[in-house]
Amino acid sequence: MMQFSDLQFTKSILKLFYGKYPDLGVDLISDIVEETLIVAHNLFFTRDFVEENKDLCLKCGFCCRELECDNFDGKECLDYVNRSKVCKDYPFYEIGLETGISLDVQCNYSFKLAEKVINNRLKPYVDLDLYEI
Ligand code: SF4
Ligand code: SF4
Repeated sequence: MMQFSDLQFTKSILKLFYGKYPDLGVDLISDIVEETLIVAHNLFFTRDFVEENKDLCLKCGFCCRELECDNFDGKECLDYVNRSKVCKDYPFYEIGLETGISLDVQCNYSFKLAEKVINNRLKPYVDLDLYEI
């Protein structure tokens, strides 16, 4: 089930792409965003893809602050070397057979990963000029 943070995230992504590609039309953009973030989320946000793009993490500490973790001193992790696998993987998660990324709009890493995937999926339509206003 979708959470409030997922909705906020989806709304922000839609706003970004409606603004970026106004000629594509809201239906196409909405379909691709829905498929990417919700329907086939695990296909696009694999562990390898998340790891390949580690540079998108701003090391802002938002994820640690949210967890109110005792190892967070307000700026950095006091036990960085021994941090758990969940911390090392974030925003990627694996719960049973379910995998994907946490859709938190305040996490640059997560937002930019989504932006990258959706941009790549929309680009062919932009390049081929298949859609008109
Ligand atoms: S909130 Fe996202 S961008 Fe910030 S440190 Fe955590 S993973 Fe990195
Ligand atoms: S252990 Fe470190 S990386 Fe993990 S939540 Fe706490 S402060 Fe953040």
